[in-house]
Amino acid sequence: MAIIGIDLGTTNSLATQYTSEGVKILRNSSGNALIPSVVGLDDDGNIIVGEVAKERLITHPDLTVAEFKRTMGTDLLYELGKEKYTSQQLSSILLKNIVADAKEIIGEEIEEVIISVPAYFNERMRTATKQAAELAGIKCERLINEPSAAALAYLHKHDWKDGTYMVVDFGGGTLDVSIIDSFDSIMEIIAVAGNNQLGGKDFNEAIYNHFCQTSGMNDENLTAEQQAIIYRMSEATKIALSTNAIANMTVVINEEKYSLTMDNNELIKIAHNVFEKIVDPIRKVLKDSRLSPSDLEAIVLVGGSCKMPTVAAFIEEVTGVKPSTDIDPDTAIAVGAGIFTGIKAKNQDLKDIVMTDICPFSLGVGATDNNKEITMSFIIERNSMLPSSASRDYYAVKDRQTEVNFKIYQGESIIPENNIFLGAMKISCPPTQEKEYVATVRMTYDINGILIVDLTNREKKTISKVILDQHVHLSEKEIEQIKGRLDKLRFNEGKDEEEQLLISKAERIIEETMGFDRERVIDALERFKFIMKNGNTIEKRKAKDFITKLLESYED
Ligand code: ADP
Ligand code: MG
Repeated sequence: MAIIGIDLGTTNSLATQYTSEGVKILRNSSGNALIPSVVGLDDDGNIIVGEVAKERLITHPDLTVAEFKRTMGTDLLYELGKEKYTSQQLSSILLKNIVADAKEIIGEEIEEVIISVPAYFNERMRTATKQAAELAGIKCERLINEPSAAALAYLHKHDWKDGTYMVVDFGGGTLDVSIIDSFDSIMEIIAVAGNNQLGGKDFNEAIYNHFCQTSGMNDENLTAEQQAIIYRMSEATKIALSTNAIANMTVVINEEKYSLTMDNNELIKIAHNVFEKIVDPIRKVLKDSRLSPSDLEAIVLVGGSCKMPTVAAFIEEVTGVKPSTDIDPDTAIAVGAGIFTGIKAKNQDLKDIVMTDICPFSLGVGATDNNKEITMSFIIERNSMLPSSASRDYYAVKDRQTEVNFKIYQGESIIPENNIFLGAMKISCPPTQEKEYVATVRMTYDINGILIVDLTNREKKTISKVILDQHVHLSEKEIEQIKGRLDKLRFNEGKDEEEQLLISKAERIIEETMGFDRERVIDALERFKFIMKNGNTIEKRKAKDFITKLLESYED
């Protein structure tokens, strides 16, 4: 039985395992570690996940869904063929796939997972994430904040060196900046700030718009497939600029070739508003923690977008500190989640490491104030260290009051209705007079994200309740129902994944090319399919190698 750590990303996901030799990154049979967070249906109506599904984003946009993590914990539905799914259900499908792969790689049952989530995820989003695992039949008791995971990965490599660190996590659709203290192997998050609408996606869009503009194209006149092709090429151009001074982008639309040559200066110009938005969370965490950049031991960059040299240079310009580049931005969070499984399992090598976490939001109850208005009475404040427990006393609002009702909320607004309602509790009390003490509310929020509310009246009678977000918390019956529905989905097990991936890739390249190139790929695909159906093992291997090489020659 194994425990694994999972970085369940907006764009890419990744699993790791803590072993006696350190953290192992779990790579699938094709050697890939990053699993695109994409779910789709193949032509036979089977569920496909990851690379194969991502390849079909362009050719089969109505049968593929991506970036669903953005709406975690909401009721928003995504259409996939004839069915509709929530973000939670799609995440459940993705998790099931990641865990099945991990089981195959490790050769053991997966007993439990630890999943990383953005630090600003609220209770609803956290509960939804844990329940996504539950729906997939996977045990998940514990989440880890992504910046904590990144810091764990960095500190593990740097001998738990004491100091204050800044972690900048810039992914596909989110930017998370955090300040973390590490002293005597005790880690503590000091401050977090972020923008959940800023990521690599925005650079892609900037290049996309620039390309359409310089090519004299109005993208409203393009088909969804054509838009998707330009978008994909925009991302490829951005990635090329991370290692090359100049990148060339060529797209074929309606048999006509459009080209654009770009360098990093051009990219900075067309995406200046994206760069500018990186500054805000950096300033905010420094201000919240009353630190200046010179107090930092290091700035740690993680997330795919930090692989852009322009981003690293920009962060250096803003802070005056050269960011560290010695941990892999793609795998750092999953590695940290893996180390955390080791800490949770009380692994000998990690026994001295203590990790604290903060509550990223305030918790409290609605209470009648001196103006007889119901306003928020905060009990646990945002950024409190976990586990956290605090209480407040409440007084009668009228004479002969025999009952007190509390509505429990999470959020920062003084107006309770603007916050997230978590549940209600009431307790009876001996008749009192106005303004006399009636009850105490104690809130305890633990490291697993479980909130316990204790209500005690004047007679010292206490009622306790574990508060789970009513909106997202499903009943046993609902869980069984959804599980039943997800269990019925057919995963395309038994199919040759490499073959499927090559076919999807070829189909995509056929859409992206024209003329001789296109004919060549069409021919090759036809022959490939024939051999896969009729050939022997050696012929199949040869056919795979041949088409792999051919398709590679068309990448960038
Ligand atoms: P998430 O945390 O959102 O799942 P990742 O950390 O995997 O995402 O980052 C994905 C983003 O990183 C994408 O927008 C992708 O285009 C970008 N990215 C990945 N590699 C590179 C690279 N070499 N250069 C520039 N951007 C990259
Ligand atoms: Mg990420």
